[in-house]
Amino acid sequence: MAIVVMKFGGSSVGDAERMKRVARRVVEKKAEGNRVVVVVSAMGDTTDDLIDLSKQLNDKPSAREMDMLLTTGEQVSVALLSMTIQGLGHNAVSYTGWQVGMLTEKAHGRARITDIKPDRIHKALGEDNIVVVAGFQGMTEDGEITTLGRGGSDTTAVALAAALKADLCEIYTDVDGIYSTDPRIVKVARKLKDISYDEMLELANLGAAVLHPRAVEYAKHYNVPLVVRSSFNHNEGTIVKEEATMEQGVVVSGIAYDKNVARISILGVRDVPGQLAKVFTALASAGINVDIIVQSGVLNGKADFSFSVGVDDAEASVAVLRKIQSDVGFDDITSETNLVKISIVGAGMVSNPGVAARMFEIISEQGVSIKMVSTSDIKVSCVVDAEKFQDIVRALHTGYNLDTAEQAFVGGPQERR
Ligand code: ADP
Ligand code: ASP
Ligand code: MG
Repeated sequence: MAIVVMKFGGSSVGDAERMKRVARRVVEKKAEGNRVVVVVSAMGDTTDDLIDLSKQLNDKPSAREMDMLLTTGEQVSVALLSMTIQGLGHNAVSYTGWQVGMLTEKAHGRARITDIKPDRIHKALGEDNIVVVAGFQGMTEDGEITTLGRGGSDTTAVALAAALKADLCEIYTDVDGIYSTDPRIVKVARKLKDISYDEMLELANLGAAVLHPRAVEYAKHYNVPLVVRSSFNHNEGTIVKEEATMEQGVVVSGIAYDKNVARISILGVRDVPGQLAKVFTALASAGINVDIIVQSGVLNGKADFSFSVGVDDAEASVAVLRKIQSDVGFDDITSETNLVKISIVGAGMVSNPGVAARMFEIISEQGVSIKMVSTSDIKVSCVVDAEKFQDIVRALHTGYNLDTAEQAFVGGPQERR
């Protein structure tokens, strides 16, 4: 019998009605003759609501207690889904991450899975159960509860599929598959029949929320057959695999955006060797992930630097820099949020000159100036003010010939936080 892992995101289990819809879908899969493992996220906006609540009580809650809090969301979902399935007359059993041996590193809030012991799941499947597992959570070797980072239930599902040697891992969400860009912003985005692990990984890392980056990494590494599709209809989804069908003449295949961007500038840095090393060693020691780095020209023996970090790391970055200000020797620091990083991705880019220039042109036609740029063989990213980012994404989508004639069908609800 084939083993199928089905993952349902927060919006797919947002209320009792949707929970019932998911239960029916799961039962249907079992009735087709499969062994079914289901991974679920917290219902609707639960995770965001819990974060808001914690901030009312402590503006800097400890990472350990945050994990203790946020893992409750998924625990509610698994119990409710399991009892809904039982109500339909089928055997079901729910488990937390730690009950199914989901071992992780200790990094609270962004832990990586190190091992899974799927014996308990195999046993429950053997006893004819539908197994429902809480996404996004795990436990360290010394018994501390951890989470895998926002959107991490996708990773739970793919990791379980790999550990169980499942025949298929299906990610059910509120859109019909993976599109050339977010179909909520570009109504004429095109649904992809398939996409390569590498291109999807790039899009996910650049902010496309539809799949968690680590889920794609896992799927590539263990060659997990992965499909993204809607929980609101039975339309065919998008297959993520090693080699995708190359469309002739496509240079840019996808556009992603990331609102989680802050820019920190260090002004008037003395231009002597070793300054950059000091700054970025200090940031790395504080566990801060730096993305784009830009240095301006030297004037009167002094230079300015800018770098980008996640919004949540902006304050901590400034604090780290203040500590080393006299040692490094610079005049001031500024920090800026309300930015978006917009990226174009495509494997065909490397052999086509002028792709980046065209992007800069399209952004300038929107009357927006570019604050930072970064490029690689298969992507170009620009950081801009958030205000007109949707217009820019739409213009890029048109400019790189990605628009479809038909309007993208979006299966799920439009209201999102
Ligand atoms: P879930 O709760 O199911 O995990 P997410 O919100 O994490 O759902 O991911 C689905 C959302 O990802 C969609 O509603 C869509 O707005 C967004 N998205 C961003 N980029 C893309 C893309 N290229 N293709 C499809 N969806 C995308
Ligand atoms: N509930 C978690 C989040 O909102 C995990 C997930 O949805 O994948 O980030
Ligand atoms: Mg998600």
